[in-house]
Amino acid sequence: MAQLTDDCFAFSGPLLPVDDLERIIRDRIDPVPEIETVPLLRARGRTLAHDVRAPINLPPFDNSAVDGYAVRHADLNPDTDTTLIVADRITAGRAATHPIAPGSAIRIFTGAPMPEGADTVFMQEDVRAEDGRVIVPPGLKPGSNRRLAGEDIAAGSIALPAGRVLSIADVALASALGLTGLSVRRRIRVALFSTGDELTEPGRPLGRAQLYDANRALLAGLIEALGASVTDLGILPDDPAHLAPALKEAAGDHDLVLTSGGVSTGEADHVRDAVEAVGSLVFWRVAIKPGRPVAMGVISGSQDVNAAFVGLPGNPVAAFVTFVRVVRPLLMRLSGANPPLLVPLPVRAAFGYRKKQGRREYVRVALRRGADGVIEAHKHRQEGAGVLTSLTETDGLVELSENTTTVEPGSTVGFLPYASLIG
Ligand code: AMP
Ligand code: MG
Repeated sequence: MAQLTDDCFAFSGPLLPVDDLERIIRDRIDPVPEIETVPLLRARGRTLAHDVRAPINLPPFDNSAVDGYAVRHADLNPDTDTTLIVADRITAGRAATHPIAPGSAIRIFTGAPMPEGADTVFMQEDVRAEDGRVIVPPGLKPGSNRRLAGEDIAAGSIALPAGRVLSIADVALASALGLTGLSVRRRIRVALFSTGDELTEPGRPLGRAQLYDANRALLAGLIEALGASVTDLGILPDDPAHLAPALKEAAGDHDLVLTSGGVSTGEADHVRDAVEAVGSLVFWRVAIKPGRPVAMGVISGSQDVNAAFVGLPGNPVAAFVTFVRVVRPLLMRLSGANPPLLVPLPVRAAFGYRKKQGRREYVRVALRRGADGVIEAHKHRQEGAGVLTSLTETDGLVELSENTTTVEPGSTVGFLPYASLIG
């Protein structure tokens, strides 16, 4: 289980800047200790527990990068064509049986080992071959078209660092190094609830004043994209008598209990009381928009194991943004993952905007190419934190820093594609 102290989320201050939030999580939360070995093809998205060193050189031997003719560069005329006898033929998977003799060339194919003594390869398109000879032009540099053993990665060096969230390419690299499994942290287990008397499960008839639950679908997808597992525990009513035992039970076998809704200061918001009955709770007024206060807590489960608790705002867009900025770093930290660098891409704003200083703001935008070919960000026409189509009809978020107060149309802004925020 996650090892959490009751006060690990304690924070005093009016507004919590995003950078401080990330520091609190990094400093006060430890990765889960359990490690397991998974077969290579199941490793994508998991977090590497230890550095992986290359057990062999990659490539394992010097080889040709092209189909052509291997030569000794020293045999070549510097200013005119050179005629060489074609002495041998090596295809990929076979090794030459004897070294290359002076004055000769060896027909070679991509991936075949360089014959001993040969140092350079001519591409077949660049030579003339006739009657067992090959005529090669002057000017090719020594070492051309030859791949050296270990030039991709040298035996003994770190191929993949601990904390890496394994990508498809990482798995391919591990496979090329001959590995069959990788040591990863165990999956983080998340219990997921929605709260609200107004919420209805899709598939059921919709009563008056009811709406279908959107957040569990949203949050379950975001959790799974991070390589964690989700236990979907349904919808809880706005009633502390139901909420408290359900949260406590979920805490017993999960690292994180995640809810949405019911954490504003409205009278019908009972999540606060319920969490306080079974653990401790603080409100983080994270300095972001959209996103209201996020409730952070620790719930003591049975047998003295604690689970983290995060209560996200109910409005789906606020839930999305606060998940990305609060829950994602928390889940990554629990799984020992190094958070990837988020690099906003420069795009041209096709909108003007004003904001308050001191908080980070996220504007939902669609990208389109302007008349001059430059990529432009178009702000969605609806800004409401409950408007789901403002997510489905856009490509990502423009991130406006704490210091920004205005965006002039035509200025350059930083764009974060949804894909960079998910997983
Ligand atoms: P709350 O944070 O509980 O005050 O909810 C804020 C708004 O979000 C209200 O309009 C709720 O009806 C709505 N809401 C809360 N939870 C969900 C959910 N799971 N799916 C869709 N809308 C929700
Ligand atoms: Mg509610």
